[in-house]
Amino acid sequence: MAIIPVPQLKDNFAYLVIDDAAKQCGVVDCAEADKVLAAVKREGLQLVAVLSTHWHPDHVGGNLDLVKAVPGLKVYGARAENGRIPALTDAVDDGDTVRVASLEARVLGIPAHTNGHIAYYFPTLKAVFSGDTLFIAGCGRVFEGKADTMLASLRKLAALPDDTRVYCGHEYTQRNLEFALTLEPNNPDLKAKYDWTLKTRAAGNWTIPSTIGDEKRFNPFLRVDSPELRTNLKKADPSLRDDPVAIFARARELKDRF
Ligand code: ZN
Ligand code: FE
Repeated sequence: MAIIPVPQLKDNFAYLVIDDAAKQCGVVDCAEADKVLAAVKREGLQLVAVLSTHWHPDHVGGNLDLVKAVPGLKVYGARAENGRIPALTDAVDDGDTVRVASLEARVLGIPAHTNGHIAYYFPTLKAVFSGDTLFIAGCGRVFEGKADTMLASLRKLAALPDDTRVYCGHEYTQRNLEFALTLEPNNPDLKAKYDWTLKTRAAGNWTIPSTIGDEKRFNPFLRVDSPELRTNLKKADPSLRDDPVAIFARARELKDRF
């Protein structure tokens, strides 16, 4: 059992989720089929499933090419994306189970970036694929839902076990941390993660995965209860309500313009 990132486009990740015994794998999101197929071949695997997190082309743009290249391929995606997942074969809903050889994932409905955004949680791998909802030290833009929808989706992910590894859709970590530091400049875990990220990126490496436990220590969008974060937001706007959704919404607005 292993997870291998396959970089896509400028800063996207596809991920191979591998059942070594069966020599089979699934791919979570795919923008560029050729790169994914090359990785599958290099690892000596058979691709059996595509696990799409949401309809945006940088996550599903490779689906049609994958099904052309691999007859019988299953393509999972949310029914709630209303037909916008290319080559979909198996529409899924929150709470469903999907399979990659012997590996099982639970589908978590986490709307707001898109209405049908889902995550795939593999308890035996201690891993969640969070797409463009939860990033390392950040979250996705709220395109189709509202702030309260996104906060509820993030809290659903935050409720997973602390040792769950988080594999997200983009390498946005450094910029996310730079924004987070504007809200919690005195958070030692945040400063440590930033130092680690600068070194990791300078060495040419990616910052995935993180863990749910770590995200709760430095991701501002999971820290709407932090006194330092609230104080800093209220400095700029004393009329800001002491309410998690209002705090979240203001932080997200500021990040949109950061
Ligand atoms: Zn997206
Ligand atoms: Fe994306």
